[in-house]
Amino acid sequence: MGGTGMEKHYDVVIIGAGPAGLSAGLYAARAKMKTVILEKEKPGGQIATTDEVANYPGSVEHATGPSLVERMVAQCDEFGAERVKDGVKSIDFNGDLKVIETESGDIYKAKAVIVATGASPKKIGCPGEAELTGKGVSYCATCDADFFTDLEVYCVGGGDTAVEEAMYLTKFARKVTLVHRRDEFRAAKSIIEKVKKNEKVEYLMDSVVEEVYGDGILEGIKVKNVKTGEVVDIPASEDDGTMGVFVFIGYDPLTALFKGVLDMDQTGYLIADENMNTNIPGVFAAGDVRQKVLRQVVTATADGAIAAVMAEKYIEDKFHA
Ligand code: NAP
Repeated sequence: MGGTGMEKHYDVVIIGAGPAGLSAGLYAARAKMKTVILEKEKPGGQIATTDEVANYPGSVEHATGPSLVERMVAQCDEFGAERVKDGVKSIDFNGDLKVIETESGDIYKAKAVIVATGASPKKIGCPGEAELTGKGVSYCATCDADFFTDLEVYCVGGGDTAVEEAMYLTKFARKVTLVHRRDEFRAAKSIIEKVKKNEKVEYLMDSVVEEVYGDGILEGIKVKNVKTGEVVDIPASEDDGTMGVFVFIGYDPLTALFKGVLDMDQTGYLIADENMNTNIPGVFAAGDVRQKVLRQVVTATADGAIAAVMAEKYIEDKFHA
């Protein structure tokens, strides 16, 4: 799709098709604004690779991330939001019409822009991690759990994601060990209570992964106890020959494109007010990319709805008054 080097005009361009972008698309298109959602990967963002979404209001029992995404996409399409698979290469938010150039060379001009680019998984940053990604090191249990059927898996992190995904991984792996850098989990109590009942899950607390190693495939990890300083080598069992390391230590916002243009905090999250206004009139931020207290599907979709409604109001005032 795209690739024509064409100039295209829209009322609203939404960057990112996660829950925030899809919700913004649905609201914007429903308000009869000419709307396009640009997404470089498949729609859904992080929930596209989340097994269970239990806390989105109205979720049916055992609702999966992909099934929720599928319904959001269908709803968006039904109201007439266009969706284009293309990455954004550069932006120019100086003029009344905001300009977005995509990787395939198309130029989008929009009266308003909603940035819903989300966030991507953080890396441990230890030796071997980059080389062994996809060869034993993974950031997505839904995508890769199956490869670790009957193997041993180490799950790094202590938040909701690490603990929930560790439980999911027990459906495949022989044993799952949570490796957390403190002696207390950050995850919600309800989630911790559930994992404690799972006999396949073990714990390495006060511990960080110092190195992952292997010749073309993960063969072992080195874990350091941060209190004692002791480093232990944990090789894959000889029979298995390999093991898994899943990393769930939080996320980095995808905002490199907007540096020096949109206000952001020290960690790169965009600063927007409760109406999703950024520092540039006509440019809104929605979802996980925004500095906020609670990053959930429910807050992302709410942000998207507000951003779309405020974009409509902005366009009305600025271009039709
Ligand atoms: P998070 O809450 O930021 O937790 C990150 C975890 O990784 C923390 O335990 C942190 O340790 C650890 N960590 C961070 N950097 C590390 C490093 N360099 N090395 C080792 N460990 C490191 O991230 P998350 O679990 O992905 O959750 C993100 C957001 O999504 C949260 O708001 C969460 O509530 C939400 N979420 C909700 C659900 C749900 O409600 N069902 C499910 C998934 C995610 P410390 O604890 O020591 O800081």
